[in-house]
Amino acid sequence: MSPIRKTLTQRQTSLGAARHSVRLAAFGLLAVLANAALSAQNTANTVYDRVIVGGRVMDPASGLDAIRNVGIVDGRIAVITAETVRGRDSIDARGLVVCPGFIDLHAHGQTPETYRFQSLDGVTTSLELELGSSEVAAWYDERRAGERINYGVSIGHIKVRMSVMHDSGSFLPVDEGAYRAGTAAEISAIARRIESGLLEGAVSIGAGLTYTPAATRDELLAVFRVAARTKAPVNVHARGGVAGVTEVLSLAAETHAPLHIVHINSAALAETPAVLTLLNDARAHGQDVTTEAYPYAAGMTEIQSATIQDRYRGVPAEQLAELEWPRTGERLNRESFQRYGRIGGPVVIHHNAEPMVVAAIRSPLTMVASDAYWQDGTGHPRTTGTYSRVLGRYVRETGTLSLMEAIRKMTLMPAQRLEGRVPAMQQKGRLSVGADADLTIFDAARVIDRSTYREPSLPPVGIQYVIVNGVPVVANGHAVDGVAPGKAVRAPIERR
Ligand SMILES: [Zn+2]
Repeated sequence: MSPIRKTLTQRQTSLGAARHSVRLAAFGLLAVLANAALSAQNTANTVYDRVIVGGRVMDPASGLDAIRNVGIVDGRIAVITAETVRGRDSIDARGLVVCPGFIDLHAHGQTPETYRFQSLDGVTTSLELELGSSEVAAWYDERRAGERINYGVSIGHIKVRMSVMHDSGSFLPVDEGAYRAGTAAEISAIARRIESGLLEGAVSIGAGLTYTPAATRDELLAVFRVAARTKAPVNVHARGGVAGVTEVLSLAAETHAPLHIVHINSAALAETPAVLTLLNDARAHGQDVTTEAYPYAAGMTEIQSATIQDRYRGVPAEQLAELEWPRTGERLNRESFQRYGRIGGPVVIHHNAEPMVVAAIRSPLTMVASDAYWQDGTGHPRTTGTYSRVLGRYVRETGTLSLMEAIRKMTLMPAQRLEGRVPAMQQKGRLSVGADADLTIFDAARVIDRSTYREPSLPPVGIQYVIVNGVPVVANGHAVDGVAPGKAVRAPIERR
């Protein structure tokens, strides 16, 4: 099969409702590709929608790392060539790296504000796969008019459990959803709701065992069985350390569910190297397990959640100083922990050490994912700085990763993780002819994050252009206003 034919077939089989328009677009592309392939003369005669000229094109799938010109037609990459290309619009990428746009498997917020933050950090696809949603069809409907970047969601066990158990929390469980064990009827209602969410096209199943401590092994097995049956990965926030990771590996092994363990850095903390060895062994024995990390030593979550309350309520007072109230920068004590616990809001958790972050980021097992977190005007600096920080700090400044390896962790690896369930992801995470024109163009010599725990909304420097489905959403390092080229990333919808 020619690459072009293969692209068409994949698209035709993967995108039910959008099939007709995609086919038309694909034939438009086919015409351009055929034209472009005839001769260099014809390449020179073709006028592309947009061209990116003179950049260092890096594609982790093919290993291409060379100065090339890229032409875009109908939101897809139509040519990658050393020849001169002409376009109705042209981006001068000399001195810059041109690579596939970053795919974030773990991003909370999912608002225009957070999509804007993330776009400035080079993200072209932002997926909320850990908490997810309990209302998948409605979640996609709300974004139907388009967003700044591509978006998608999981069916979330935490959110479904909050609904089935009638929890009174809004963002995360605070009572019944966290602390009450489900009856047999409630457990089967939870499993059914998860299955419905998958039929509505959820990208995966989200779960967070520290947020739902009362969920029994039987309940979790019911959830993992749905995952195994539907080949949907479980994106799980495991309980801490080797014990927590062993627990989710065993649930997945017992049910044959695909497993993705989120933020291994903050799940494993001081046991990060041991946990990475565990995952390596599990993979060597054929288990379908992957993981991700964000490049910061502090975490953040809701102070009222079980994750914080269970862990810190009984600790010695000094240990409460691990917690920081981001609005004031104060470290907490017994009195302020209780006071802010009544108010609610995000809290910074200074619980990890830099060598563990380095171990997580360096491991060939980990993808980069932000765990972007933003609530009521404040949040974690990872929301705005994850990708630029890996490229600036861990590639350029410390040499922890090669540039190609970092790009692979941000693009190809997350795309591949989802391909089994979302075939359209085969067109993302690559810079190749026929792929979606989601591109990030940055200055490798300058790129760096600027956000801090006190000022988490500062955009990075050095991310010059970000293109989503062929349309720039960042140009000359600034957000472009009034554009919404981002589309849904969604599994094929099944009729019931
Ligand atoms: Zn988490």
